[in-house]
Amino acid sequence: MRLFDLSGRVAIVTGGNGGIGLGMAEGLAEAGAALVLAGRDAAKARVARERIEALGARCHFVAADVTDRAACLSLVGETMAKFGRLDVLVNNAGTSVRKMPQDYTEAEWRHVLDTNLTSAFFCAQAAYPAMCQAGGGKVINIGSMMSIFGAPYATPYAASKGGIVQMTRALATAWARDNIQVNAVLPGWIDTDLTRAARGQVDGLHERVEARTPAGRWGVPADLAGIAVFLAGAGSDFVTGTAIPVDGGFAAAT
Ligand code: NDP
Repeated sequence: MRLFDLSGRVAIVTGGNGGIGLGMAEGLAEAGAALVLAGRDAAKARVARERIEALGARCHFVAADVTDRAACLSLVGETMAKFGRLDVLVNNAGTSVRKMPQDYTEAEWRHVLDTNLTSAFFCAQAAYPAMCQAGGGKVINIGSMMSIFGAPYATPYAASKGGIVQMTRALATAWARDNIQVNAVLPGWIDTDLTRAARGQVDGLHERVEARTPAGRWGVPADLAGIAVFLAGAGSDFVTGTAIPVDGGFAAAT
């Protein structure tokens, strides 16, 4: 299917060495893309790379802290040097610090905002010239249910994920004439390292998510593969500036 065929395309996935990022990267690889995974943990990346290569895709890991603008520029530079083009950027790297709002330090606030929001802007800025050179591109920003809802233990996280949606809209309007589509994906509750930590810290979270999610289960990283392929391929060429929940119905339920 041409609409979902990513043969010859090159995709960067930040935080693609684990969790949701790896789930999306595997989807892109199955659709034919070559992958560049960016993250800090090289051991996790080795396993991720083996999984992608087992799908028959080319895969390269770039050790990068995406809160550093220079690292984002190098990430795109290394991608161009390795694969000669860039078509898709998935801004997925993310973190959370769970506390009541009155208890955050300045460093914690900045760490969450830098990791979840500023990094996505730096990477998008770095990717823009390469995407223009390719005649267009796709930016996929990862939001959250916290792009829509609040929680007492997630003030900087919710601020960053709300910001992701508004940044997505602004970039989409700015770059539509360059044939660059920019969309956000809002995952529901997905079983990953991040949410395993949350379940350790927030009493009753596991059960509350199961009860509130119409699908009746937590998501798994592979649940995000299909939306990644759609938003990375020709099938979404007239889709831009959106924020699409992939949540088993969580956001639709009362
Ligand atoms: P994980 O903790 O499994 O993955 C987070 C990834 O981000 C890791 O691979 C990590 O790589 C990378 N990362 C974090 N900080 C940096 C950094 N400074 N530089 C480079 N890479 C970094 O969590 P998830 O897979 O759950 O989260 C992925 C995204 O999905 C996040 O944006 C998260 O907010 C979002 N999300 C998750 C939901 C869930 O229920 N799990 C729900 C909604 C949104 P490394 O270890 O190498 O640093």
